[in-house]
Amino acid sequence: MQGYSLEKINKAIKKYAKKNENYAQLLASYQELLEIHFQYLEHIDVPFNLEEETIKEYLRQGHYLLADELLNLDFLKVRELMFKIARVLLNNESNLSQKLELLESLPELQAENLSQLLNRKGGNTPENVENYLRENSVQDKCNIESELISNIIFTALSPFYMSYAGKAAEITDFSLWSKGFCPVCGQKPMMAMLRKDNNARILECWLCHTQWNFSRLECPYCNNKDYYKMGYFFVNDEKSRRINVCEHCKSYIKTISLKEIEGNVILDVENLCTMHLDSAAQEKGYRPGQDLSLLN
Ligand SMILES: [Zn+2]
Ligand SMILES: [Zn+2]
Repeated sequence: MQGYSLEKINKAIKKYAKKNENYAQLLASYQELLEIHFQYLEHIDVPFNLEEETIKEYLRQGHYLLADELLNLDFLKVRELMFKIARVLLNNESNLSQKLELLESLPELQAENLSQLLNRKGGNTPENVENYLRENSVQDKCNIESELISNIIFTALSPFYMSYAGKAAEITDFSLWSKGFCPVCGQKPMMAMLRKDNNARILECWLCHTQWNFSRLECPYCNNKDYYKMGYFFVNDEKSRRINVCEHCKSYIKTISLKEIEGNVILDVENLCTMHLDSAAQEKGYRPGQDLSLLN
């Protein structure tokens, strides 16, 4: 969704909602999140200090750009955004206002503690955040699942990462990068697409939404290159949307082939509207290379 206007994304969403009624409600919540997201994106300006040569050096050496530095986050703003997002994501919960109040008063989610949690090197992973929430029994304190709280936190962080990644993308196209994780923030790819013209595979990061090229003959999650341990399958004969699987690490990545698709594809929306593919893959015993989440 890097580089797309809200209008363009909304247009794509309308198309999906029409085609797939099952996803209508999910897409409606997603649209609410997008409104908030774009509102904030305009006012978020994360500093970016790397020069072109340094970036190239990082990419050549296989270091993602944030490997050695922490994102300069405004935690008061992150917190403010978190509770706007929480209102949307918790919409179906019973006792919503009571839960929101509890959530807002949690010491673990105050700006100062958030900064300690998220300002650790390598700390910004859903696993670390969920562990922290579990260690502090946050779920019991507010009656909201740790996974959902983590989802709220990362949905709030996403525009900050996107701001940083957008500045990096003005300087480089990441063609020097050949790893299976994001060249900007180091997270795993959420989905893949195959280009229309040359069928090259492009991966997209779930957090900062950077896109980069990656070999079609390698698993991005475990770097398995054994052709015989890789495969793919379709669901309902829908050949433009496939599930690539790796027998070595038993993970899967959903892939959309642009050759068979008309118009723009926004992978974040695709990801959301292809949850039937996730179910199919998981029924066959594969796990998502990157955990599923709503806006991220
Ligand atoms: Zn990223
Ligand atoms: Zn693998």
